[in-house]
Amino acid sequence: MKFNEEFIHKNVPIKHLVTFNIGGNADYFYSADSTDALCGAVNYANKNNIPYFILGGGSNLVVSDKGVEGLVIHNQCEDICEIDKDKMQIKLSSGFSLSHLVDLALNNEFEGAETFAGIPGSIGGAICGNAGAYGKSISDILVTCDILTKDGKIQTVDKKYLQFDYRMSRIKKEPIVVLSAVFQFKAGNKKAIQDKITEILEQRRSKHPEKGVGCAGSFFKNLPPAPGGDRRQAAGLFLDKIGAKNMSYGGAAVFEKHANFIINRGNATAEDVKTLAKLLKDKVKKELNITLEEEVRYIGRE
Ligand SMILES: Cc1cc2nc3c(=O)[nH]c(=O)nc-3n(C[C@H](O)[C@H](O)[C@H](O)COP(=O)(O)OP(=O)(O)OC[C@H]3O[C@@H](n4cnc5c(N)ncnc54)[C@H](O)[C@@H]3O)c2cc1C
Repeated sequence: MKFNEEFIHKNVPIKHLVTFNIGGNADYFYSADSTDALCGAVNYANKNNIPYFILGGGSNLVVSDKGVEGLVIHNQCEDICEIDKDKMQIKLSSGFSLSHLVDLALNNEFEGAETFAGIPGSIGGAICGNAGAYGKSISDILVTCDILTKDGKIQTVDKKYLQFDYRMSRIKKEPIVVLSAVFQFKAGNKKAIQDKITEILEQRRSKHPEKGVGCAGSFFKNLPPAPGGDRRQAAGLFLDKIGAKNMSYGGAAVFEKHANFIINRGNATAEDVKTLAKLLKDKVKKELNITLEEEVRYIGRE
């Protein structure tokens, strides 16, 4: 559907759209189900000087209890899905889930997306935060993105333009909206790809909270490799050392099986989560002289 400002709604609850299941209402809310509608909503906000926020799968966010100012645009665009068997490339709209990319790659015997199995959220969110696991990030398989720039132009950019780093991209710092993306794969064997996906999903199940428990994945970023090492140091190891698994605040608690997961025990507020995160950061700084940085993003009113 094309963008129509009549479908912008006022004072809309969004906590059910974020995996933490926490937070106040969006002042204004629009659900975009096509690339055209997504561009229309962003251009409308820019033209009217309304701050906007693109909400994907809501799996990397802590939404303020006081709500979100301006227009929250829920990206549900799934209008582009192109598979090039010769080039072994897949192009998807940014509103598709990352798991859809994993499934498509498997069904076409394309190797290269297995490590992303089980990461919740959308293609747009994964590119924005350069999501990844097991030493691999989404930027490793990205070829190009179609983006909407601040001046309302649609541009095809390569990954260099997006300045990827560990859980970081230019999209986190500038008002760039990802519309669609092209991913590159290698020829693979279906059974081997399926086995890898099954193994990864099993590993995730054993250390992540059960479905339905509010959280946003790893709360803090892993740390750079130790001198002489080549792998990032898990923030969870340092959190374990300070006894994080016994810590909680209000309705928020550190998950018993993974010290880098903060969970919503059912009645947590964003303030509870923020306070617990600060207690954890302060303790790690005081006892280990290490500064942790949030991987999750806080959004909405201070
Ligand atoms: C149980 C669990 C496990 C997880 N495991 C992992 C993991 O292994 N590795 C990992 O990296 N992450 C992990 N995460 C975190 C999260 O799933 C990823 O960061 C995910 O990529 C976020 O995507 P999203 O669509 O939910 O983004 P959202 O949370 O909706 O948004 C995140 C950011 O992306 C921006 N954004 C979203 N779409 C667009 C777009 N189209 N254009 C521009 N900006 C956009 C938003 O504005 C926001 O700034 C996990 C989360 C959970 C709950």
